[in-house]
Amino acid sequence: MLRLYNTRTRAKDDFQPADPRRVTMYVCGPTVYSFAHIGNARPPIVFDILFRLLRRTYGEDHVVYARNITDVDDKIMKAAATEGVDIDSITERFTRIYREDMALLGVLPPTLEPTVTGAMNVIIDMIERLVASGHAYAEQGHVLFSVASFPEYGRLSGRSPEELLAGARVEVAPYKRDPGDFVLWKPSSDDQPGWDSAFGRGRPGWHVECSAMIERDLGETIDIHGGGIDLVFPHHENEVAQSVCAHGGKLFVNFWMHNGFLKIESEKMSKSEGNVLLVHDLVQKHPGEALRYTMLSAHYRQPLDWTKDALHQSKKNLDRLYRTLDDSRELPLVESDAPDPFLAALYDDLNTPRALAELNEIARRVKSEPTVEGRARARAELLASAELLGLLTQAPEDWLKKEEPELEGDLGARVERLIEARADARKSRDFARADAIRDELLSEGIELVDGPKGTTWRRKS
Ligand code: AMP
Ligand code: ZN
Repeated sequence: MLRLYNTRTRAKDDFQPADPRRVTMYVCGPTVYSFAHIGNARPPIVFDILFRLLRRTYGEDHVVYARNITDVDDKIMKAAATEGVDIDSITERFTRIYREDMALLGVLPPTLEPTVTGAMNVIIDMIERLVASGHAYAEQGHVLFSVASFPEYGRLSGRSPEELLAGARVEVAPYKRDPGDFVLWKPSSDDQPGWDSAFGRGRPGWHVECSAMIERDLGETIDIHGGGIDLVFPHHENEVAQSVCAHGGKLFVNFWMHNGFLKIESEKMSKSEGNVLLVHDLVQKHPGEALRYTMLSAHYRQPLDWTKDALHQSKKNLDRLYRTLDDSRELPLVESDAPDPFLAALYDDLNTPRALAELNEIARRVKSEPTVEGRARARAELLASAELLGLLTQAPEDWLKKEEPELEGDLGARVERLIEARADARKSRDFARADAIRDELLSEGIELVDGPKGTTWRRKS
């Protein structure tokens, strides 16, 4: 039995889908205006584990997982204006990069990846229904949700009306009847992206897009909705208000799940601290599985302290696991499922730290079981368990070659020297020499990648 902590009931509950032949899960996805940081990677990795677990439990074809792409947003408009390009070129670029980065972290593509631009008609339709039923009103080109029309507002986040009031902005926009009312639609000027609607040309607010895409792609009531803990209020509170009111009071989400925040070396990750780690940079410097292992080393609801040491330790653990696989490659191939103690850890609210401990225990048995059959079975259990975590997906010989520490050290130093030489050549505008260095490395299977923070290198796959 899968047990999951439910923010809605504030308890660890037995998970039961409404329809085991169509289990529905939604996770708020990225706003594609820039690179994702490592904190942003926590929800996709955490819910990827749940996705794998649900598929194992209910069958691959019986789980529908939607993770949206927010491709209309003021931050996107700002990024486009700064670069002097239209928003599509920003959103296409960062959608592509997001998918590539997630793939390198071993995140399976979700079943559905709806975009806001592709859902504009259902968004407008939902807003119209909310206005018609008295839950929203149009004012000065804006449409606002009326929180007073929904007595349960604040229940998900556990906020009292006083707290909600205190939380609302000090400066209240003149078109709001109640300071807590939030925007469903806002007007666009001629030079801003906009869509025609009964309320004039404009674009949707952030909250309503999720409600509309969920209704269209998954249904009025869904089994699981996830995201980071910071989204509980106001984003998810507002999703509940919109969806429940649009559906005549029907339950919107059965299980609400939220991951805790990630810190860097015990500090809050922020631009002002200058400690923001981008997934795009990390995947060039470290194997994706090591990043993923580090992410899984804390329980998803706990804060995760991302440190160099933890990442180093994850790499070492993976080296050991791959070495176990390599050393045992002569064992007969048998089939086995993941063993019970491992599964029990994951089925207990995705306890990945315990699951990793079990994984290492299984690896120990690959060596210590007294019989060949026992060792072969343990090896099969190791692979089946690792698959549920999205780990040990490479051929051991490839991993070990990549991870041979001394070789990497020497090679790394040489490549760094060549990168410097190339940078010097470029500075003195000797592009022929710069290109020659690049080509030389390329012929050895090493690719240079020029990024905002300088040049990095990676092995060509
Ligand atoms: P944002 O780009 O801020 O809207 O965040 C996208 C997703 O990443 C949301 O689900 C956030 O809850 C999540 N998120 C942002 N920062 C962190 C962090 N430091 N740790 C964990 N999750 C985060
Ligand atoms: Zn959302």
